[in-house]
Amino acid sequence: MKKGSDRFMALIVQKFGGTSVADAQRIANVADIVTQAYRAGNDVIAVVSAQGDTTDDLEAKGREIDPSPSRREMDVLVAAGEQISAALLSMAIQRMGFPAVSLLGWQVGLETTSAHGEARIRRVREDRIRKELDQRRIVVVAGFQGIDRSGDVTTIGRGGSDTSAVAIAAAMHADLCQIYTDVDGVYTADPRKVPGARKLDTISYDEMLELATLGAQVLHNRSVEMAKKYNIQLEVLSSLTRKPGTIVKEKRNMEKMLISSVTKDENSARISVIGVPDRPGLAFKIFSCLAAKGVNVDVILQSIGRNGTKDISFTVTTDKMEEAIGLLQEHLETWGATSIVSDENVAKVSIVGAGMETHPGVAAQMFEALFGENINIQMISTSEIKVTVLVNKKDADLAVRAIHEKFFGAD
Ligand code: ASP
Ligand code: MG
Repeated sequence: MKKGSDRFMALIVQKFGGTSVADAQRIANVADIVTQAYRAGNDVIAVVSAQGDTTDDLEAKGREIDPSPSRREMDVLVAAGEQISAALLSMAIQRMGFPAVSLLGWQVGLETTSAHGEARIRRVREDRIRKELDQRRIVVVAGFQGIDRSGDVTTIGRGGSDTSAVAIAAAMHADLCQIYTDVDGVYTADPRKVPGARKLDTISYDEMLELATLGAQVLHNRSVEMAKKYNIQLEVLSSLTRKPGTIVKEKRNMEKMLISSVTKDENSARISVIGVPDRPGLAFKIFSCLAAKGVNVDVILQSIGRNGTKDISFTVTTDKMEEAIGLLQEHLETWGATSIVSDENVAKVSIVGAGMETHPGVAAQMFEALFGENINIQMISTSEIKVTVLVNKKDADLAVRAIHEKFFGAD
């Protein structure tokens, strides 16, 4: 933080998601939040998403013209959503009597790779934003969009505005990056499903990264990765309640909590390759055939060999199931495997917590909670700070509640 002559000044990046800017009234509310930070003497950069379902609607419009449209043109189309939000917010701030300027991705020099629709951020130029801040203007930046080396408009993947905000915070050496959304923080479980769920005051980058990857929809996982890399402190909070949210930072407080959160992900399908010859190299062949086509594999389980064969099971996201089966089918005979079995009615239930690194028996407690509800575990996978089980989809909510109660007690 820089100390001004008569005021304590910080540089704050505030990101507002689609629900926070959904209509004129919400935009006025956001303008109020932004100007409050500005009036307190801070430099403020607001990064905005498209309003409500605008991005979905624009995508649908494009597909109405061409079911598989040019990815370059699609980026020009969907980037319009954030352009609209940026202009509207800037107007709302000006209307309140404060100086503001809206800037698009190319204007702030947010340079990306050329992978349209899923571009990676290479860098953000500092100069234009700095120039505006130096004039004491509130800078409103369109999230989600950038520009590649040939000068074409790109977008950085659905949900990417969080990552735009963190990239800008890193480039500008911001003191804090606030992510305003429609939930007021990160919880020990989904509060809509688990009545006793509690809001966390803090969570570590690593825990948040696991959660973001495991289907908690609070933050884009690349934004957490980047925040960790550049040590940007994040705060997840609601634009509607205006209460302190959850701080994401390097280490959380020494709270006596074994785990931070229980989460489920229903976007998973299980595929098993049955009767694979029990020989070296077959796992390699199966997974490289999928990897070559960009099919990501998650939890993997290999059975003990019997009669010279084994079964190899793994999970993929639901939308990749058909493609994966097709790819495997092509090679099944050459590999000498018998058949492929798949199941979409599965869900991943996970616990995440830095506490399990130092405390044995956390997985056993989770399994005990599942046993208590007579829920069968199909697959298990672990990392230092995570245990994931695959269960029948119909058991998933009950599993989350039972595990939550085991670790956090009833309400
Ligand atoms: N508007 C984009 C989307 O809906 C980016 C974002 O909201 O973060 O995916
Ligand atoms: Mg989002």
